[in-house]
Amino acid sequence: MADCERLNVCPFFAGSMQNMPRVAEMMKKRYCLEDKTACARYMLASAGIAVPKDLFPHDLDRARMLLCKS
Ligand code: SF4
Repeated sequence: MADCERLNVCPFFAGSMQNMPRVAEMMKKRYCLEDKTACARYMLASAGIAVPKDLFPHDLDRARMLLCKS
């Protein structure tokens, strides 16, 4: 699958979020470079919902909750 089109604007990909997980590089490969559709941040952004600053790609439960509230 193609790279996520948000690579240039995403603080997770830039590594600028606080408390970046130790496995961040693996996560970038898994989500950002292979399957953006599995990413919680992408899920919200593509739905036009503001992405919380501290939301990580694997925080799917939180993303789904925010989607339900929208
Ligand atoms: S896949 Fe998710 S974390 Fe990666 S650049 Fe896209 S929105 Fe950001």
